[in-house]
Amino acid sequence: MVERIFNDPIAWGILAAFAGVAFLFSLIFKDRFDNDTSASGATLRGLEGAILAVLGGLIARAFISLLLGMANNSPAAGLAIGWGFFLIPGIVDTIPYLLHSQPLLTTTENLLLFATMVGGLSGMASGLWRIYAWDGLGWIGFPLDVTWALAGNTVGCLLHIINFVGYWASQIFSDGSWGNHGTETRENAHRYDKGFGLKPGFAFTQGAVMSNLDEAPGQDLYRHERTHVWQNRAFGPMYTLTYLGWMAVWLIPSIFAAIIKIGVSRTFSGPKDWCYFNNPWETWAYKVQNAERTDIIGNDDEDRKIIWPGKWVIAWSIPFFLVATVLAVLVVNSVWVDSGMAGATAQTHSAAPKSKSQPQSKPHGAPAPAKHK
Ligand SMILES: [Zn+2]
Repeated sequence: MVERIFNDPIAWGILAAFAGVAFLFSLIFKDRFDNDTSASGATLRGLEGAILAVLGGLIARAFISLLLGMANNSPAAGLAIGWGFFLIPGIVDTIPYLLHSQPLLTTTENLLLFATMVGGLSGMASGLWRIYAWDGLGWIGFPLDVTWALAGNTVGCLLHIINFVGYWASQIFSDGSWGNHGTETRENAHRYDKGFGLKPGFAFTQGAVMSNLDEAPGQDLYRHERTHVWQNRAFGPMYTLTYLGWMAVWLIPSIFAAIIKIGVSRTFSGPKDWCYFNNPWETWAYKVQNAERTDIIGNDDEDRKIIWPGKWVIAWSIPFFLVATVLAVLVVNSVWVDSGMAGATAQTHSAAPKSKSQPQSKPHGAPAPAKHK
């Protein structure tokens, strides 16, 4: 459990590459980051990127390795971790899991590899843009971003990649205005002035990455988006999964609501108003933004008929989060508590070579992994 954090040469290769890239990028493009364009500033920035890349990767590996180990590396733990901490591998592997076939992405070695890549890339980007306030909340933000809040930051890393590619495409083929990162530092969040978003005029935040947000720190929409950054850090997988869960629960009812209250021509207003504007995480963020959800650009009198007042959102949130919490407790109990005990029992009471909780996937094809508890 402990040595596999450190003994993978591929992981060290990835982290060394991130660290090297961070340092070189900072020196070569020293006038493209924040307002400090000096050589000494570039050196320090590069060092911060390199250190956070290595630390981020190792902390994420340690966290995922521990979670897997506590459940005897079971496939169920792999799936739960895939959903809760990387999202996409969990979604992908749900079908093979239900069909009782081999997992594709949520094997032990793959999850440790994802941890290396997301922790490393997230740390590298955050160090290069100097987002963490080391005289304050950065000490909480950084460790959370590469552990508990990994699901949001996995998608956040995809945002970094899209905006990075877009930035250079925009520099070469266009007016160079796309994918620019804000020059402010130590705000505990990334901000891309113009970049990937789901809808024109709307910012898009995943993990610590706020994209398509042209408002400076302190402004209304900035406060909205940074609320999501801290919601993700505070609630981790519960934030990501209940945000998506709320959308899933209300998708069909919202379509009926829109057809009945507005008309067939406005069917799609249902999901927009119920899955997004009525979403409790959004209601909270719009409150911080100090904006009425019914007055947001694009909403008209028809939308106002079906967007709920805040007290309705709170009322529906109570049963919703109660059910979500019960489901989370059931998953944690069956994956970690039961299988952990089954593993312990198997180890104490029998020397049988195979128990139900034996790892299905052996790290790097090792013949029979020795167990370290
Ligand atoms: Zn929002």
